[in-house]
Amino acid sequence: MKTMTCRQLGGPCDLAHHGETHDDVINAQDQHLKQAEKDGDEAHLPARKEMKGRWRHPKKSLGWYNDMKKAFAELPED
Ligand SMILES: [Zn+2]
Repeated sequence: MKTMTCRQLGGPCDLAHHGETHDDVINAQDQHLKQAEKDGDEAHLPARKEMKGRWRHPKKSLGWYNDMKKAFAELPED
């Protein structure tokens, strides 16, 4: 397991996501941003918008995705 925070994934807070792969933490962040939007958390709205845009334009977002993949690969195991 490895840990990436909301902030490392482009968000504004230090909530930690745990996962076996980069996809796990990216999906956890996606859920976290969805929940933040529901809760009316304005600090998370820009990150939520960016994440929505990534799902809509997956090719354009490949750079971000690869950065996250690389960052995850370089993290130490928990
Ligand atoms: Zn957050």
